[in-house]
Amino acid sequence: MEAREGSSKEIEVYLSVDVEPDCPPYLWTWRGIEEGMPKLIDLFTEEKVLATFFVTGDTASRYPQMVECLVENGHEIGCHGFSHHPFRTFDEERAMFEVAYTNSLLRKFAPVTSFRAPYLQLPERFLPLLAADGIRTDSSRAKYKFCDKPNTSAPTVQRLPVSATSSILRLPSFVRDPLLRWLRSPVVLFVHPWEFVDLTRHPIRVDCRFRTGDPALRDLRDVIRVLRDAGAAFRLVQDFREAKGN
Ligand SMILES: [Zn+2]
Repeated sequence: MEAREGSSKEIEVYLSVDVEPDCPPYLWTWRGIEEGMPKLIDLFTEEKVLATFFVTGDTASRYPQMVECLVENGHEIGCHGFSHHPFRTFDEERAMFEVAYTNSLLRKFAPVTSFRAPYLQLPERFLPLLAADGIRTDSSRAKYKFCDKPNTSAPTVQRLPVSATSSILRLPSFVRDPLLRWLRSPVVLFVHPWEFVDLTRHPIRVDCRFRTGDPALRDLRDVIRVLRDAGAAFRLVQDFREAKGN
C-alpha cells in the first residue's frame, strides 16, 4: 500500500460491512445476519478494530438488536438504502424514501452521516438527496470501475470510493497480499455478513460463493493483520475528510 501523495506516510484504512440479506439479488435469506454477523463482531473485537456498517432499512427493522449491538461495540452505522434494490431503477421520490426512511430508522440508534448504495451504483443525480438528509460522505463509487466518473459539481457530499471488491479478500494470500500492498491510501475495503456463512453449495455466482464460511473469517483476520503490519491506521467513514485538490 502507498500513502497518498503529498500527505504524511500514514495509510488510512476504512473497513466496512454492507449489512443486507444474503447475496442479493440471488438469495434474499438472512443467514448472514443470524449466523455470520456474531462471528464478524467477535473478530473485530478480538482484533481491536472498528468498522463502518452500512445497514439497509429492511435489515434494521428486522434485527434492531443487531444494530444496537454494533453501536454498543463502538462501530459506525451508515445507510445502505432500504430495500437493496438498485438506485438506477428509482425515481426521485423512491430514492428519497430509501435514504430518508432508512436514516430515520438508523438514527434511533446513532448519528448517520455515511452512505453506500447497493451494488455500488448511485446515479449522480441523487447526490443532492443525500446532502439534504444529512449525509456527508458517499462511499458508492469504486476505484476499480474505470467508467465510474464522479460528478464534481455536487461538492456538498464528499466521496470515499471503494478500493477493491469484497471477493478479493478471499483469494489465496500469495495473490491477495500483493494486491493489498498495491492499493493507495485511503484504502476502503468491504465485506458482507453472508460471506461468513458457508454458501459454497448454493447456485450463485462463483465469486460470491468461493471460500465462504469459516475460511472467509480466517482470510479477513489475515487481511487485518497484513494491513496492520504495513502500518495502517484503521478509521471510520464518519471521520474521513477529503484532501484538498481530490
Ligand atoms: Zn449491498
